[in-house]
Amino acid sequence: MEGIRWLSSQEISEVEPHCVGLRGIRVPQTGIVDYKAVAIRYGEKIREAGAEIFLGESVKDMVVNSSGVEVISDHHTWSSKFLVVCAGLQSDRLALSSRCKTDWRSRS
Ligand SMILES: Cc1cc2nc3c(=O)[nH]c(=O)nc-3n(C[C@H](O)[C@H](O)[C@H](O)COP(=O)(O)OP(=O)(O)OC[C@H]3O[C@@H](n4cnc5c(N)ncnc54)[C@H](O)[C@@H]3O)c2cc1C
Repeated sequence: MEGIRWLSSQEISEVEPHCVGLRGIRVPQTGIVDYKAVAIRYGEKIREAGAEIFLGESVKDMVVNSSGVEVISDHHTWSSKFLVVCAGLQSDRLALSSRCKTDWRSRS
């Protein structure tokens, strides 16, 4: 990225009139987006590609077996050969619950 620079307190309010701070970092390539709209569009694209999205379910357990992994939520059980855990700061806890071998942790 180019053009990253420190902002003084006064420069912060010039860039973002509703923000106050002692110092800031200006990253010109970033912007504010309507993330709800972004998430809805991601959902549409995922469904268009033939996948299903299950909302309002909590993954309770994951069991690695000889054919892959079983993911157990409070409503369903899925079997898969591969699994990508995208649970934010809970990712390492969920991955560890599968009892599979990991060598990393979320930074929190
Ligand atoms: C206050 C705040 C402001 C931020 N502002 C910005 C910003 O302006 N710009 C920016 O780029 N980033 C921002 N971030 C960071 C950004 O939100 C994170 O980097 C991003 O959301 C991480 O995405 P993720 O998909 O890895 O995890 P998350 O968005 O945390 O998604 C993880 C999902 O997994 C679900 N989950 C967890 N455990 C389970 C379970 N057992 N079963 C089922 N589902 C589960 C959670 O409910 C959640 O929906 C901000 C973060 C915070 C806290």
